Amino acid sequence: MNIITIDNVCKNYKAKKALDNVSLSIKQGELFGLLGVNGAGKTTLIKILCGLTRKTSGTIMINNFNLDKEINKIKEIIDISPQETSVANNLTVKENLEFFANIYNNNANTIKEIVDIFNLNEVLNQRAKTLSGGYKRRLSIAIALISKPKILFLDEPTLGLDVFARRELWNIIKKLQKNITIILTSHYLEEIENLCDRVAILSNGKLLKTGTIEEIKQITNTQNFEDAFIKLVEAKNE
Ligand code: ATP
Repeated sequence: MNIITIDNVCKNYKAKKALDNVSLSIKQGELFGLLGVNGAGKTTLIKILCGLTRKTSGTIMINNFNLDKEINKIKEIIDISPQETSVANNLTVKENLEFFANIYNNNANTIKEIVDIFNLNEVLNQRAKTLSGGYKRRLSIAIALISKPKILFLDEPTLGLDVFARRELWNIIKKLQKNITIILTSHYLEEIENLCDRVAILSNGKLLKTGTIEEIKQITNTQNFEDAFIKLVEAKNE
């Protein structure tokens, strides 16, 4: 079942076409990757899907709700972990989680479950401002999950993390897979290859291809995904 259907969506910033007639669908439970070089339109698409910016034209259905008419219903089932982490620095990890659990009326069990998934036990009483980048990112994603969203947007979740912290976060994201639909953007192709069921490749606001990593390698007749990505984007620019 498709949980997100995007039909002929355009977004213009004056003369700039940030999204140019994009159509794609995302299935329930999928971990879907949005890929593209800087300025391709990934963040614009995520912002539109989250109701943070308006599309110029086109239709979007999320969980059978029309984005133009039922944005409040959509906001109840989505959450986003943005590029800049969204934690309260002066609160401890536990206080951060409790604060959001209160907002969403969730109980101690939800917090415990999330603390376990994210391995946050050892830093529970530490103030967020003293956390390493990797733990801060984990806390930021953990907070986004407190509302128990059906759909989670992760905008460059491992940006700036070292290789160990990145792998740790991959394992956590894999644990979430299937229970929830995840839309992830990343510039790390290895990350996309490791995590995503399917991907969409954008360039200059246009959708170049959607498919599994294997399908995209086959279409481009390449052995590795980075070569496939470069081939597609370069062909578009010629
Ligand atoms: P990155 O990988 O660098 O985050 P992206 O794929 O997320 O890039 P977007 O941020 O969606 O790309 O930007 C798409 C295009 O729209 C770019 O050309 C950008 O300059 C333009 N753009 C984005 N936001 C605005 C805005 N508020 N006003 C004008 N132009 C904008």
